[in-house]
Amino acid sequence: MSNLELNRRGLLCVVSGPSGSGKTTLCRRFSEEDSSAVYATSATTRTPREGEKDGVDYFFLSREEFESRTTHGEFLEFAEVHGNYYGTLKSEVVTHIDAGRDVLMDIDVQGAALIRNQTDPVIQQAFVDIFIIPPNDEELIKRLNFRGTETQEQLDLRLKNAHEEMRHWESYQYSVVSRDKESDFATFNAIISGERCRSS
Ligand code: 5GP
Repeated sequence: MSNLELNRRGLLCVVSGPSGSGKTTLCRRFSEEDSSAVYATSATTRTPREGEKDGVDYFFLSREEFESRTTHGEFLEFAEVHGNYYGTLKSEVVTHIDAGRDVLMDIDVQGAALIRNQTDPVIQQAFVDIFIIPPNDEELIKRLNFRGTETQEQLDLRLKNAHEEMRHWESYQYSVVSRDKESDFATFNAIISGERCRSS
């Protein structure tokens, strides 16, 4: 292994896109298949869906605990999304980047903007952002309904928020129009592979 590879700092790869864009699946799969990448598990005040595990899918916190952690400066970013708090704990990110591991974060457009505007040079240098765009409304509605866990009211809110989120795609360095799982993953892989070769 060359010195260049040994000294490489990890990327901070921020992935956004509306619910149903497939971004979580892409991040999870990439971190499972690539041993140099880790998925940053977020904290949330949302109620766990059936089958979701604390510490794996999210760190599920009460509103009081979440707010107390924000006061103690434990979050790299946090935002209110679909009526709940979501945030990335610094502990899930910084040590990995220093150790040369790429961190994948699946976060909303508000959280991405907060990280994009950070002045910390380590974060700035590591930062890469990717927006996943669903192919069309029809497919998006199908994907939103797929889980079968949301009420009609929650689905309506997610669809409304999806249109709002989509307006931000141009703020991202990369955007991927979702087609199918395999081609989305190949494109995602190509972006990260390219970023890993960047010399500055
Ligand atoms: P869900 O409830 O479907 O798991 O996630 C809802 C939204 O919250 C998604 O758009 C997801 O990207 C966003 N989200 C998940 N974790 C975080 C986080 O740590 N920070 C921010 N800002 N958004 C997050």
